[in-house]
Amino acid sequence: METFRQRLRSIDQKGYKAYKAIEGTYRFPAFTLAIDHVQGDPFAEPSKVRVIVPRAKTIVAPEWTNTKPRRIRCEDVLARRVHHELRQWPLRARGSGKSGLVLIDAPGQKVVERTAVQVADETITVCLSVGLPANGRRVLAKEAETIFFEQIPSVIERAVYGLRQEDIVPAVELADQQHAIRRYLHEHGFVAFVANGAILPRESGVSDKPLRRGAVPFQSPPALEIAIPVPHRAEPIKGMGIRKGITLIVGGGYHGKSTLLQALEHGVYDHIAGDGREFVITDSGAVKIRAEDGRNVTAVDISPLIGTLPHGKETTQFSTENASGSTSQAASMIEMVEAGASAFLIDEDTSATNLLVRDARMQALVAKESEPITPYIDKARQLFHDYGISTVLVVGGLGDYLDIADWVIKMEAYVPFDVTAEAKQIALQMPSGRKTEGGESFGRIRERIPLPRSLNSQKGKKAKAAARGRHVIQYGETDVLLYALEQLVDDSQTRAIAAALLYMERNGWLANQQTVRELLDRMEKQWDDHGLGSISFRKGHPGELARPRRFELAAALNRLRTLRCSQ
Ligand code: ADP
Ligand code: MG
Repeated sequence: METFRQRLRSIDQKGYKAYKAIEGTYRFPAFTLAIDHVQGDPFAEPSKVRVIVPRAKTIVAPEWTNTKPRRIRCEDVLARRVHHELRQWPLRARGSGKSGLVLIDAPGQKVVERTAVQVADETITVCLSVGLPANGRRVLAKEAETIFFEQIPSVIERAVYGLRQEDIVPAVELADQQHAIRRYLHEHGFVAFVANGAILPRESGVSDKPLRRGAVPFQSPPALEIAIPVPHRAEPIKGMGIRKGITLIVGGGYHGKSTLLQALEHGVYDHIAGDGREFVITDSGAVKIRAEDGRNVTAVDISPLIGTLPHGKETTQFSTENASGSTSQAASMIEMVEAGASAFLIDEDTSATNLLVRDARMQALVAKESEPITPYIDKARQLFHDYGISTVLVVGGLGDYLDIADWVIKMEAYVPFDVTAEAKQIALQMPSGRKTEGGESFGRIRERIPLPRSLNSQKGKKAKAAARGRHVIQYGETDVLLYALEQLVDDSQTRAIAAALLYMERNGWLANQQTVRELLDRMEKQWDDHGLGSISFRKGHPGELARPRRFELAAALNRLRTLRCSQ
């Protein structure tokens, strides 16, 4: 510790590069400090620092980390506490650029496995970013001393050593309950669950926090109510169960349909206490599918949904730089079948209508032979039968869908009603007049094998693979656009996707003729077996990463304009 202090003092007022001398590992009374990477100048990305605390000196008991959900929750609580304590200090010390910034990659409303805090058997590692202070480009050693000898020790003292039983037990218990609900849904044939009392609407379109005033709490229709036993409380949790199969959410405009669907989209992740969606749980394989015109598509066999195009263009290996609404949505569906989805979440608002349905009049006017599209209404059942993929679909205007629904939920002034029987009745009394066009089966999906040259992070003489915010990954010469991925919920997931692509490239994963599905399996196994940080090329501090789902990783690969495949 004192060598560190001396080193710092000896570089005071020197050029910024002198900071390189403090890279290394130092013992403090309460922890070990590892300065893994020193930034090149005060304006560059802040330096990477780890604080390693001996677990035995804390009250973090083995039972708080004896299952994976518990360990992730425990790490999440610690990351939030460190973030909270850091904010008690002035945001930055005096100086230029990022001088004095001390940050942790803090979680939002969701609990996602992340590298910010890692609780292992022996140690608790806290990963920080520190803007090493400078005046212009001269080292401000005194300011740095304050950060390392006062701020960080005090933050660790309060956030980690100051952890009390009651700070963590409720969070771990919530994790157990959420996990129990997930397992129950899986074992009993449900796709999703929305607890009574849940608050679904958000503060605003850009906020993930609950709507504070005037939110109508969710209340299940009696016929759809289930009770799920959970640990740590005597009473089971009651709410609406959405079964596997085909479920419609109907209702008038502005009555809360999309809000319910969005809650289901986000329910693939766990939420923190007080969010309102703590007990909104969706099968982790559920994927939002939407139109995304302009996206690129590479060698996707969209023939189950879109057959031969004008001038005899086959669609078994469909590629385009600029997809239309319907082709983009069809491609996303097939890609997500390929990636192993368990359910599709679809909103009429964000869909290509002509992919969803062709009504009787259009069938009469435009012969099937001159319409490449087989609408989803004729394929949803086969998709469930052949691939086990359920559908939850929001419809406001497309009544033909009543014919194929297993369940129909009507939203009325934010209150759900079960209108399945009524819908069946109407479907009988008022036939749509449509002819079904879907054939006997959904159709075979050709699995693609990405070719090695698909991944090329080279940009000029340098390698470039970096996230820019949540929705753009710069990969070599190209930008991968992820704006349409509504289930990408954390900037650190985007960083992890960029890191995963680079890892696959550098380790030659595409050289083995593996299918997309096999590559996704392999990456998940890598994360499970070796930790999320294992894909980082940094030494020590892995960077700010949060675990994405395989579907968002697949979506990024699919949107890479350099992707080339064989089948
Ligand atoms: P729809 O898709 O049926 O047209 P939305 O789901 O977009 O309707 O909801 C319309 C508005 O109502 C949104 O501003 C949303 O935040 C709000 N809202 C949704 N559900 C609730 C609720 N349970 N309580 C209060 N406001 C809600
Ligand atoms: Mg809507």
